[in-house]
Amino acid sequence: MAYFKSEAQRPNFIQQEEEILELWDRNKTFEHSVDRREGCEKFIFVEGPPTANGLPHPGHILTRVVKDLVLRYKTMCGFRVERKAGWDTHGLPVEIEVEKELGVNSKREIEEYGVEKFNRKCKDSVFRYEKEWVNATKRVGFWIDMDSPYVTSDNEYIESVWWSLKEIWNKGLLYRGHKVVPYCPRCETTLSSHEVAQGYKDVEDPSIYVKFKLRQAKEQEQEQEPVFMLAWTTTPWTLFGNIALAVHPEHTYVKVEVKWKEKADEKKKEILILAESRLDALEGEYEITERLRGKDLEGKEYEQLFDVPVEGKSHRVITADFVTLDEGTGVVHIAPAFGEDDYEVCKEKRLGFSQPVDSKGRFTSEVPFPDLEGAFVKDADKRIIEMLGQRGILYKESTHLHSYPFCWRCGSPLLYYARESWFIGMKSLRDNLLANNEKINWYPSHLKYGRFGNFLENIEDWALSRERFWGTPLNIWICEKCGVECCVGSIEELKERAKNFPFPQESDANLDLHRPYIDDVLLKCEECGGVMRRVKDVIDCWYDSGSAPFAQWHYPFETEKFKQNFPASFITEAIDQTRGWFYSLLGVSTAIFDVPPYLNVLSLGHILDEKGVKMSKSKGNVVDITSIFNKEGAGADALRWYFFTVGPPWEDIRFSEPAIAERQKKSLNTLWNSYFFFITYASIDKFNPNAKKIPVDKRSAMDRWIMSRLNSTIKGVIEALERFEIHLAGRRIEDFVVDDLSNWYIRRSRRRFWVTEENFDKDCAYLTLYEVLVALCKLLAPFVPFITEHIYQNIVRTISEDALESVHLCDYPSPDESLVEAKLEDSMDLVARLVEAGRRARADEGIKIRQPLKAVVVVCEAEKMEEVSGLAAILQDELNVHEVQFADVNRKSEFSDMENYKQVDVNDETTLFLDVSLDKGLREEGLVRDLVRRVQGMRKDIDLEYTAKIRILYEGDEEVKEAINRFLDYICEETLAASVEEGMQISESKREGFYEKKWKIGKKEVYLGIKHEIWNE
Ligand SMILES: [Zn+2]
Ligand SMILES: [Zn+2]
Repeated sequence: MAYFKSEAQRPNFIQQEEEILELWDRNKTFEHSVDRREGCEKFIFVEGPPTANGLPHPGHILTRVVKDLVLRYKTMCGFRVERKAGWDTHGLPVEIEVEKELGVNSKREIEEYGVEKFNRKCKDSVFRYEKEWVNATKRVGFWIDMDSPYVTSDNEYIESVWWSLKEIWNKGLLYRGHKVVPYCPRCETTLSSHEVAQGYKDVEDPSIYVKFKLRQAKEQEQEQEPVFMLAWTTTPWTLFGNIALAVHPEHTYVKVEVKWKEKADEKKKEILILAESRLDALEGEYEITERLRGKDLEGKEYEQLFDVPVEGKSHRVITADFVTLDEGTGVVHIAPAFGEDDYEVCKEKRLGFSQPVDSKGRFTSEVPFPDLEGAFVKDADKRIIEMLGQRGILYKESTHLHSYPFCWRCGSPLLYYARESWFIGMKSLRDNLLANNEKINWYPSHLKYGRFGNFLENIEDWALSRERFWGTPLNIWICEKCGVECCVGSIEELKERAKNFPFPQESDANLDLHRPYIDDVLLKCEECGGVMRRVKDVIDCWYDSGSAPFAQWHYPFETEKFKQNFPASFITEAIDQTRGWFYSLLGVSTAIFDVPPYLNVLSLGHILDEKGVKMSKSKGNVVDITSIFNKEGAGADALRWYFFTVGPPWEDIRFSEPAIAERQKKSLNTLWNSYFFFITYASIDKFNPNAKKIPVDKRSAMDRWIMSRLNSTIKGVIEALERFEIHLAGRRIEDFVVDDLSNWYIRRSRRRFWVTEENFDKDCAYLTLYEVLVALCKLLAPFVPFITEHIYQNIVRTISEDALESVHLCDYPSPDESLVEAKLEDSMDLVARLVEAGRRARADEGIKIRQPLKAVVVVCEAEKMEEVSGLAAILQDELNVHEVQFADVNRKSEFSDMENYKQVDVNDETTLFLDVSLDKGLREEGLVRDLVRRVQGMRKDIDLEYTAKIRILYEGDEEVKEAINRFLDYICEETLAASVEEGMQISESKREGFYEKKWKIGKKEVYLGIKHEIWNE
């Protein structure tokens, strides 16, 4: 039989991990782990595709290890778990990076540079950091097939997306709308509502009250005070697009007379109109002169603020139900070019339109102030307020803190802006979205009806088109002659209908479906024979990634893979994907198949820096996490274990590098030490676990207890993992390894391994520890795949040639209920608490644990007595007493009254009494224990092997000498000493080769010397 390899007590985990990576590579372990479950039930996973045009940050690594844990676990549970990688390659993030590189700032500059060249640069940049991504993914142990990933810019992927859009088109859900949409003036494109939802920030904006002068009949103008509608706005720049003022038809409005603020000396008065319940907005004295309903104001005309050209009817008071009285004046300034409600109400009332702002968010020459022409609208607020003041129509001015949307990619403030756009009618699918959400399990569950459910309740139509370059081209063509629109659903259909096919290469392999080539494909109109041109837009890249469940398999052009892999059993990403990918998946799938695309979704927290601030490039607080893989005292397992156990996966992590080492030290090093202990003694004894078969019920209470704890732990771990309570699963294992296995079982059982001759009890101990370690490897394998593989290779593979070649090919342990002895666990638990109580009593009395004491009495109920008495030897040993007695509860007062007994109440029914009196014999014994401990410390000082024999020399007073002689056998046994001799100071020659130290024990001085006793000396 090949035998266990010896191990280093303090191993180099980094080197071990690298060796394991090679082993997996060499043996194709990942592929085997999937293939050997051929024909088994599938656990379907869809990879949320990252963008590889930037380096992976800690959040990405967290997501990757959580995915890996779940998928390894499910594989070990017997599922077939295929893992296809994916890359998100389109969209604004990519374009912005290339723009920066080229030093261009606008779409016009890109067009001048050339769309063909620009898109080629985008394509090249997409995989700029692929190598870093692949390396980090492998190094952290994430098993995923990166050799045949899906790529959203591949033709096959695009073709599937086209197919899906045509499905939506055929259902009448894809439409062109003229709508006020959230718009990024820097990126010059529309954003979808879920993109907007990601970018809200609290900002101070101006808050101004503006007076709109009502027109009066010419003859009245001289004698009457002017009358103003008082309106409130936080976006002064939109006043250039003012078309109307809206009031609520049913609310009460008042006319108030106030002093003309600006020209107080003239004592001139003016009349203001506002909602009665908003009178707070006024400053100073006023007098209500008239009350009227909102609808009484309808149709009144007012003077235009600024001379901006307007098409159509304008500048009158209208009524609208959306007017609220929560803030402002109850009079709402309406600019249809810059507000969604505004646009709708003006359309309904057949009012005009004015948009003196260009596509970059700058004022056009229509604004009657030359100094504002070309200014970015948000920058002009100050100047506009100044002008209003000069003209006496600014009532008052302050600032207002509110939540305002910013572009999630470039950080520019968004404008609401009337654009022509293509939409998917998600609003009409609201009920279907909600019904499909019902079928999804959310982790944490509150997201289902909270953040996500609320978002679905208020769903908006999906603004799909982007007036950009690098993206899936929108597959809609429009006839120049008759205006008919058509949607092309495949490459074949495109070829069939095209009048020309101007691609660089004719073969499909070199076909590039992107702009600009696709822009030149003209179709023949089936209605009138005219020429059809494609709309210039590309689509939202969130639609691309939302199509992953089918597009990664080129469905429906190939059908089998998709049918086997839909819907997903499980997906996980960070919480910001709630309105990102989690939504786009559900949106696309609901529109096309009307089923949920995933059944379980785990939403992960973010990674914050040590101060609790979200890590981001712009703040410069992103940790280079890949360095941790190769740092001594860290490594991939350490990082994984930290991520898994630091808190619930859905909570934010305050990242701390020292905590990684701490958590590793606590759990993984303890696991290693337990394994190291086993290997060391098993090698000495040439213990062969395969040669011994001892049923657990034949073993000692201690062995049965650890087996019971193991199986209880397995049960708890599986329950937690099934609920994605990864942290609880991890902590259960940690408690088992640290408290049960290391601090109790191994510490308590050490002597059983030290016995030199073979015996039944020693076999039981070995077998038990071996079985626990093997089970632990499997239990921990999905969490820390490297160290568990390393241990498995040594303790299983070296001695069993027919064993599975990797721990990751094994089945996950299932709890053996027959080995769970609840009563035994309870009793051991009570013993542990009694030990704790006894130690407390010693500490209170100032008696060290090494000082033996006469007796301990456990007072408890008869039933408990019976259970615990079987474990009395443990108690005796742990508390270092000569005797353990039990007494019934009714005898409690008997012991309470005795002076030499120290009392500690363990719980309501159980009390511990420790006899703390000391006599000469006990003192000597205590002294000897102290000496033994010093010798053991000295053995460590000179790095002796656990098993090395020594010789001891000593020098001390009579009491020391007497004690040593009395307990000679004990000392030899404990310290592996072949001899203990007096006379160190006397004979120089005797002392040669001895390691010596002078000790102070209590008040005594003792000299000790030890030397390695080599057999053939
Ligand atoms: Zn932007
Ligand atoms: Zn036509």
